[in-house]
Amino acid sequence: MRVAMSIGTSPRDRVLAAVHRGRLLETAVRLVSIPSPTGDAGRAADCLAGLLGEAGLEVERRDAGHPAAPAVIARLRGGGPGPTLQMDGHLDTVHLPFVPPRVEGDLLRGSGACDMKGGLAAAVEALRALKDSGALRRGAVLLTAHDLHEAPWGSGEQLDRLIGEGLRGDGVLIPEPLCDRLPVAGRGAATWKVAVRRPGPPVHEVMRPEGEPSVIAAGAELIRRLGRLDEELARKRDPLAGRESAFVGQVHSGEIYNGFPRECLLEGTRRWLPGTSPGEAESGFRAVTDALARDTGTMVETTYRVIRGAFALDLEAPLVAAFRRACEGAGFRPPEPGPKPFVDDGNSFWSLARVPAITHGPRAGGQHTLEEWVSIDDLVRVARAYALAALELSELSDAAGEAP
Ligand SMILES: [Zn+2]
Repeated sequence: MRVAMSIGTSPRDRVLAAVHRGRLLETAVRLVSIPSPTGDAGRAADCLAGLLGEAGLEVERRDAGHPAAPAVIARLRGGGPGPTLQMDGHLDTVHLPFVPPRVEGDLLRGSGACDMKGGLAAAVEALRALKDSGALRRGAVLLTAHDLHEAPWGSGEQLDRLIGEGLRGDGVLIPEPLCDRLPVAGRGAATWKVAVRRPGPPVHEVMRPEGEPSVIAAGAELIRRLGRLDEELARKRDPLAGRESAFVGQVHSGEIYNGFPRECLLEGTRRWLPGTSPGEAESGFRAVTDALARDTGTMVETTYRVIRGAFALDLEAPLVAAFRRACEGAGFRPPEPGPKPFVDDGNSFWSLARVPAITHGPRAGGQHTLEEWVSIDDLVRVARAYALAALELSELSDAAGEAP
């Protein structure tokens, strides 16, 4: 649908008038109505690509290593050169029983309503408003949506591939459900599993061979050494994001009080700050488990999985100025800087490509539960701010570059 453009109306007014609550809600309901557990977001991606195509946008699909659900890429180009504002979201949801969409007053409920199909629908509506209003004169807007976000079923590998292929803007907005602060620092995270084993068969403890190592004792030694590592890591601190850490969350060994076990399993996390690379964090951790094997005569198998790198946002980035102006233009106070409590795709943009990323989404809750909800009015607020951010970024720039 095309909005009438009266002479003398500013591009900002035109784009704000082109954001439609009903169309936004319909998009959110359609996305929520398609189950898309992580790894299996193909049908939701097809639906989104269809909606964007119907809106007259240029749509591309790229499998980026995950042909079951090729990522959705839509572009809108202004008339002249300028920066590209990217809006990025994930289509997958955590593996919980599917809850269909349901509207109750101002709330949309259902799987992914909060995390983050609601926010993604707001970004789609922002893009449609920019297209319908014809208000974007320079630069471009890039919308990307993908699968494989939610751990432990995914670890952002599809998005990492897209970023690696150069599919990235000059700044990214991520409509995850966080709006009470402007996240400027966050820790990177990895999960780890360690299996400590001994060579011999399972036996009664009175039959255990002389000199055969105890996997429980070796596991305890690992806990002690990781405690020491954690103390050292505590010296690395950020006033907002907190401290680095090595954490043990689970230990399992043995079947019966007088059996001599063959295996001790431990699991936990490693978190680090901007300034430490994921590789450094991993090699420091592996140094501890490698030394444990040597010192205890056990076989130690370490599985270490990086979830996301650390995150930082430069408050001097043009994206930040554009976002703050957009908040004011959409009628609300820009949020104050604060920590990012979780890892999200903004971590990937910053840690892999140093692209400034702002996580800002609707008022919503119940993520990773069966009780997800999002405020529909707040989705409209986000759509308006996102659409204005594209105009503000294009006006702030000195025609920095072409669209990717
Ligand atoms: Zn999410």
